[in-house]
Amino acid sequence: MRDNGLYKNLDSYIRNSRKEFENKLAEMVEIPSVSSDPEHQPDIMKCAEVASQYLRDLGAAAAPIKTPGNPVVFGSIVTGKDNPTVTIYNHLDVQPADPSEWNKAPFKFFKTGDRYEGRGTTDDKGPALTALMAVRYALDHQIPLNFKFIWELEEEIGSPNFDYFVRKNRKELKSDSFLVSDTIWISRTQPAVPYGLRGLQAFIFSLQTHAKDVHSGLVGGVARNPIGEMAQVISQCYDAKTGKVRIPGFYDDVLDATKAELASFVNSGFTTKGYQKAHELKSIRPNLKNEADVLRAFMAAPTFELHGITGGYSGPGVKTIVPYHAEAKISTRLVPNQDADKISRLVKDFVKKINPDVKVEAIQTLEPFSGDFTGPYADAARVAMKFAFGKDPAFTREGGSIGAVVTLQKHLKAPINFLGLSLPEHGYHAKNENYDWRQTSGGIKMFVKYFEEISKL
Ligand SMILES: [Zn+2]
Repeated sequence: MRDNGLYKNLDSYIRNSRKEFENKLAEMVEIPSVSSDPEHQPDIMKCAEVASQYLRDLGAAAAPIKTPGNPVVFGSIVTGKDNPTVTIYNHLDVQPADPSEWNKAPFKFFKTGDRYEGRGTTDDKGPALTALMAVRYALDHQIPLNFKFIWELEEEIGSPNFDYFVRKNRKELKSDSFLVSDTIWISRTQPAVPYGLRGLQAFIFSLQTHAKDVHSGLVGGVARNPIGEMAQVISQCYDAKTGKVRIPGFYDDVLDATKAELASFVNSGFTTKGYQKAHELKSIRPNLKNEADVLRAFMAAPTFELHGITGGYSGPGVKTIVPYHAEAKISTRLVPNQDADKISRLVKDFVKKINPDVKVEAIQTLEPFSGDFTGPYADAARVAMKFAFGKDPAFTREGGSIGAVVTLQKHLKAPINFLGLSLPEHGYHAKNENYDWRQTSGGIKMFVKYFEEISKL
C-alpha cells in the first residue's frame, strides 16, 4: 500500500520547496498578528484568511472558526475514513516587538543566507509552515493518514477562548493523536522532545495608601509609602536571591523530577555556559551549583517571578514625593501536579495576612501539562528526530507554557506529542527573533518520517 520510494524524492522536494516556504514565511511575518494589542485586530483577521487559503491550496477544507475572541484557523484533509488522524497544532499570533530594540524592522522579513529574521519566524509561524510543507509531501506520497490543522491566534495571551473553541467543535476535532510544534531544543546540536510543560498563574498586586503624590518634606515620616510596603510584601513572598518561595504550602503538590528524569536532562548535552550565552545571562542564581540544579530550576521547579513594579517617580534626578500608589506584576510558573486555583488562594491568603491593604488580582491561568515519554508515539518522535537530524532527542520538560495543550488533553483525550524545531538562539519572545533553513529542511524530513511512523499505529 505504501510507496516504497517514500524517501527517494524527499531531498529534492525539500530543495524545490524552499522558495515557496520563504515566500510564505515572508508573507506571514509581514502580517503583524500581535494578539495582545487590539490595534492589530485587522492583522489577526488577515492572518487567519491568508493561513486558511494556504490550507485550501493544500486541498483542505479550511476556514477561520469564530470564537468570542480571535478566530482559530481549522483545516481538515481526509485521505481515507479508515486511516488514523493526526491533528497538527501551531499558533500564528505573535509577541509584540519594539522596533527601537531590534537591529532590523521586526515586521519585515529578512533573509541572510540560511537565516530568516522577523517576529514570528521561530514562534511559531516558521514551524507551522514547515509542517505544512511536510504534509503536502505526505499527501503526494500517499502516507495513509488524515490530517487536521489547528492554527490558534490567541496563544501569546494565554489562549482565553481555546477551551470554548474545543468544546464547540469537539466532534470535528476528534483525532487519534495531536502533534504540537512550538517548543525549543536544548542546543543546535541536541534535539529535544518535551513531555511536560510548566503552567502559569499571573497576579497583579496593587496598593493605594492615599489620594495623590505628596511632598515628602510635609508628610515624610507620617505618610505610608506604598512602593516600600509593596517591596516588603514581595520580599516576604520569596527570597529574591535564591528564588525560594516562602508562601506556606506553595511546594506541597510539586511532582519533583525523578532521578531518571534528571539524568535524562543532564545527558542531553546541556551546559550552563551555553545556556547563559544563548540567553545573554551574565550571572545566575548562586544556589545553582551544577547542570542538574539549573535544569531542574527551569524545567521541573515552580517559580515566583516579579515582572515589573510601578508607581512614584522615575524621571531624571529625584523628585521628593511620597507616592500614593504601587502596582507589581507577578507570575508563578507551576509544575505538574500543582493546581493554579490552589496556588492563587495560597498567594492571596498569604499577602492578606502580611498586608491586608494590598489587593491581589489573579489573572491568566494556564495549568501545567504532563505527557508520556515512553510508548509508540514517543518512539515515533525519537525515530523521526534521529532520521532527520542524526541524533536521538533528549526527552525533557519545558519551562514554558502552552495553555492549548492542556485544553486538548482535557477534552479530547488523545496522545499529544511535541516535535519542536526552535533553538535557544532563535530568540523566543525576544528581540531579533529568527529561524533558519537547517531547522526547516530537517523539520520537513522529521515530520514526514513521523507521519509514516504513526500511520502504522
Ligand atoms: Zn509559541
